[in-house]
Amino acid sequence: MIAEIIIDSSVKNLNRMFDYNIPKNMENNISIGSRVLVPFGRSKKLEEGFVTNIKESTDYEVKDIAKIEEQSLTTEKIVLSKWMAKRYFSNISECMKLMLKPGTTTKNFANRTKDKTALFVSLNMPKEEVKEYINNKKVKSEKQISILNYVMQMDSVMQAELIEKTNTSRAIIKTLEKNGFLKIETKKVVRNPLNDKRINRTKNLQFTEEQQLAYSEVEKSIEKNEYKKFLLYGVTGSGKTEIYLQLIEKIVEQGKSAIMLVPEISLTPQMINRFIERFGKEIISVLHSKLSVGERHDSWERIETGEARIVIGARSAIFAPVQNLGIIIIDEEHDSSYKSEMSPRYNAKEVATEIARYSKIPLLLGSATPDIKTFYEAQNGKIELLRLTKRANNSNLPNVQIVDLRQELANGNRTMISFKLHKLIEENLKNKKQTILFLNRRGFSTFIMCRDCGYVAKCKNCNISLTYHKKEGKLKCHYCGYEEPLITICPNCGSKKIRHFGSGTQKLELEINKMFPKASTIRMDIDTVTKKNSHEEILRKFNEEKIDILIGTQMIVKGHHFPDVTLVGVVSADGSLNIDDYRASERTFDLLVQVAGRAGREHLPGNVIIQTYNPDNYSVQYAKKQNYEEFYNVEIKLRKQLRYPPFCDIIMFGISGEQEEIVSKTANELFTNLDKKIKEENISANLLKPLPAPIDRIKNRFRWRIIMKTNISDKLIEIINECLYDKELLKNNARVIADINPTNMM
Ligand code: ADP
Ligand code: ZN
Ligand code: ZN
Repeated sequence: MIAEIIIDSSVKNLNRMFDYNIPKNMENNISIGSRVLVPFGRSKKLEEGFVTNIKESTDYEVKDIAKIEEQSLTTEKIVLSKWMAKRYFSNISECMKLMLKPGTTTKNFANRTKDKTALFVSLNMPKEEVKEYINNKKVKSEKQISILNYVMQMDSVMQAELIEKTNTSRAIIKTLEKNGFLKIETKKVVRNPLNDKRINRTKNLQFTEEQQLAYSEVEKSIEKNEYKKFLLYGVTGSGKTEIYLQLIEKIVEQGKSAIMLVPEISLTPQMINRFIERFGKEIISVLHSKLSVGERHDSWERIETGEARIVIGARSAIFAPVQNLGIIIIDEEHDSSYKSEMSPRYNAKEVATEIARYSKIPLLLGSATPDIKTFYEAQNGKIELLRLTKRANNSNLPNVQIVDLRQELANGNRTMISFKLHKLIEENLKNKKQTILFLNRRGFSTFIMCRDCGYVAKCKNCNISLTYHKKEGKLKCHYCGYEEPLITICPNCGSKKIRHFGSGTQKLELEINKMFPKASTIRMDIDTVTKKNSHEEILRKFNEEKIDILIGTQMIVKGHHFPDVTLVGVVSADGSLNIDDYRASERTFDLLVQVAGRAGREHLPGNVIIQTYNPDNYSVQYAKKQNYEEFYNVEIKLRKQLRYPPFCDIIMFGISGEQEEIVSKTANELFTNLDKKIKEENISANLLKPLPAPIDRIKNRFRWRIIMKTNISDKLIEIINECLYDKELLKNNARVIADINPTNMM
């Protein structure tokens, strides 16, 4: 028998099948999806690969497979990998690696994550006998008795824990083993991040009429075992999560499993606790990047064995090896983190659709501000729309006001805080209520310029201006991490007139501390959130220690629930409006609605101030009204007029390398090939000429891009793959990638 094998490599030339002979003694243990080691090329080292097909014979002279490894992928995952590789223009093996147990993908075997083991102690005779020995004073030592008592309570206990809890020693345990009372064995320890959670169970809430209606629609599909896509559209607090919980309960009752994706940043203990409270921790597995590799490895195993049947995780949890999948839920479906920015550049929503389709199960997307594309599909009947129009706990949406910063400047206010916001902060402090201030720029000042010659301090490796960080007294590049001391003399003309422009969160905190010297403040941005959990730690502090003002970037806006926050100030709404991206308005609207949603979530009324130089912009105006549908109606018309998604797909080709001539030459070659093939195949596409990217150098690599507006089709995907994998193009010393509907166009 012959196996077709794909070698684990991101080298484009190796993205094809190689034939290998299956030795007789392996025939019974090998199948499609097996992970194997094979000799490859002239190297003595064995390479890793996956079996993608098994056949009777081959025309080539082939070598033997050297070894079969323990792990394997299901046939479905192999098919999915092949589909993803085409769709996202990557190597098949790169896609397969997303589906392997975390910690086992490195080529260096010694570095792979292994099962963790420890010594466990248990009784070696029935409890009753042990009790008799103690009662008959045949065991007298206090320490021995306390050990036996502890083990009797626990059945099986880790030796280290036993020693600590009974304040004894290994020697005493050993003695008890020798005398036949105890058994000491090496057993596997499951690294489970939920282990030390102690939580009370909650019961299902009685649905409102709207919730019941939405639930029943999805339930029908579950019962019919059919693939169907739903959008659950409801403002924050309208009870979406309660619906997820009860749908998952239904799935679990049927003996099936569920995957729920949430944005990385909303995987807070608060959110996870709600699931544990309902289902208990034994059945839940959490997967996200803040866990250690060991924890992820063991979570994965608990899913594989079927012990964990509810998977809650970020983007890549869509590949979890669940048994008998019954539903996929994607919460906050508009969130950009569902799209990968690294190869393979997949969109988890599209992958979920594919999985739901072949598993014949419902896919439920939820959001208060759906992705424009998702809502468009819901309007056109491609997705079934389920609405929740009211907040479940009857709290009101906050009152939002817009402040025109041009007016503020005209009135002589040069600070970052408008008169109106200043007054409301003051009142809030007086009333002992909490305030959140949002600014989407970190650092102190965003760029530094010489007033005499116009010199701007830029990164040595990237074509990007450096941001001043006052605390460290340094200029930093937010793209590559390069830093240098603050300049006071212009390196270009020697002038001392160095001015700072733009304001970030550090400066805001300083201004607030000056304006309100008695107020306590805490700041949350990438610079303060560095260690594991410190994101949580800051929010916990803010909440429990009743800190007056929380200042932060994007990070503060998602999912958190602070009952005492009654005022939210958006210091500048303009940052996301001015980006060179067709989604600028959508991003701004989402962000503003989400930030506003942090105010007055319980019985206290909430106030929101949005400061902006663009008060008339429609995304600002509709965010003020918190009316998604009105925003959508304007936005969709514009998208249609300008032919942007959902009316087309955007494919971005990125070409980068260390030498600019090679990069531009490669870009032009690629353009010519694409253009020729599109014309030959009569594909309607708008292919724009290659140009340097908006940020034309990052980490010393020059960057060009080509943009194509089109409607993606299988034929076009084929053409693009042919061009990207073109032998002549691959000879150039440049990296070429393609990205469908990328989130970042810079
Ligand atoms: P969302 O996920 O849409 O933000 P949640 O499910 O978190 O909404 O619900 C918001 C709040 O309303 C929660 O405190 C939740 O316990 C409560 N809630 C949800 N559904 C109901 C219901 N049917 N009856 C009473 N309270 C509910
Ligand atoms: Zn100068
Ligand atoms: Zn840089």
